Amino acid sequence: TPAVSRPDFRLPKSHEAFARANRVIPGGVNSPARAFGAVGGEPPFMAKAEGAYLFDIDGHQYIDYIGSWGPMILGHGHPHVREAAARALELGTSFGAPTVREAEIAEAVAAAVPSIEKVRFVSSGTEATMSAIRLARGATGRDKVIKMAGHYHGHVDALLIQAGSAATTLGTPNSPGVTAGAAKDTLLCPFNDADAVAALLEQHRGEVAAVLLEPIAGNMGLVPPGPGYLEALRALTERHGVLLVFDEVMTGFRVAYGGAQALYGVTPDMTTLGKIVGGGLPAAAYGSSAKVMDRVSPAGPVFQAGTLSGNPLAMAAGLATLETLREGHAYERLEALSARLAEGLGRAARDAKVPHVVQRVGSMLTLFFHDGPVRNYDDARRSDTALFARFFWEMLARGVYLPCSQFEAAFVSAAHTEADIDHTIDAAREALAAAAG
Ligand code: PLP
Repeated sequence: TPAVSRPDFRLPKSHEAFARANRVIPGGVNSPARAFGAVGGEPPFMAKAEGAYLFDIDGHQYIDYIGSWGPMILGHGHPHVREAAARALELGTSFGAPTVREAEIAEAVAAAVPSIEKVRFVSSGTEATMSAIRLARGATGRDKVIKMAGHYHGHVDALLIQAGSAATTLGTPNSPGVTAGAAKDTLLCPFNDADAVAALLEQHRGEVAAVLLEPIAGNMGLVPPGPGYLEALRALTERHGVLLVFDEVMTGFRVAYGGAQALYGVTPDMTTLGKIVGGGLPAAAYGSSAKVMDRVSPAGPVFQAGTLSGNPLAMAAGLATLETLREGHAYERLEALSARLAEGLGRAARDAKVPHVVQRVGSMLTLFFHDGPVRNYDDARRSDTALFARFFWEMLARGVYLPCSQFEAAFVSAAHTEADIDHTIDAAREALAAAAG
């Protein structure tokens, strides 16, 4: 574990690497959040990851609370996952033909996730949500989709409307290049407001294919569903013959083995998965009842395909991750570690007398610099993001790698130790004093 104080924190090699990358890659990164735009400054470039730690090219070690933005629930380089991927590598990296492992992981997913009888694998969460809304439209013969403000579903044109995550951070909720045509069938609601969904469904009777949401929002910071909210959406969508789609790309296999739908006991019609299901390699999925999924090509008319879909390395890493989660005691450990972290951060913020609230579900959490609960995007946006930026850098200098935006959830992994958590809390005490003072 790194030392708490690190006054001489500098990143000369990363600075050079960032300048080089900026000459040939837009913003120097292949996904915007990595550029640290929300907190200013330049990101450390990473050399290696192991367990709960990241190591940058300047020789710093960090306790990692990003976990590659969600996949690394077992920590980096878990031996089961590493061995499974290595064995798959020996046999060939891509065949463009069916393999037995695809049915194995599909069976594991169907057994785990209540809403899924059949599942199709794709390569990113973006593809999963894009395909899910295509299928919802194809299955219902309707065009409109209701989404929640601040929820992020990848960079699907029709879903880049008041999207969270880096889209929030960059202040470009409506990206240039998204046509009015692509946006016109997307209807927006605030999260945690079932009445707003009811009103839209009334107003657009017979036109709405799907209500799509993150059942636990993770892309505007961590915002849980209020009591009865998911149940109300289930009843409303059933009444209107609309498909309820849970985007569990982040929450799937994270908040419980069966995802948020298992945790809250509300079963949607369709589910998207990503991140953990690929075990740190590129894989994602969408699934539903056999009846709905059999409308997907080649079984049915709704087209969807992918050169690298069901990639053997990704399937091996994903299946090893699911098996390790299913057979071990990861969720009890994650709950205990995460509760300890949330309590410690809350205590540190209280002692530093900064406005704050810590929100957590399982191993996903956010320390909001906001006075009182955050229930939706508007609440989240009232957080003190300048304080967050100062806090973020003070933490980084003390060897704690937090998500680089107020509007992202932190992830705890099963590789974190009590000592890591306690170190993080000690660092937060110092960081808050420095950031608030
Ligand atoms: N849906 C949710 C809830 C996500 O959190 C993300 C990514 O953060 C996506 C979809 C998009 O996934 P990907 O980045 O793999 O395209």
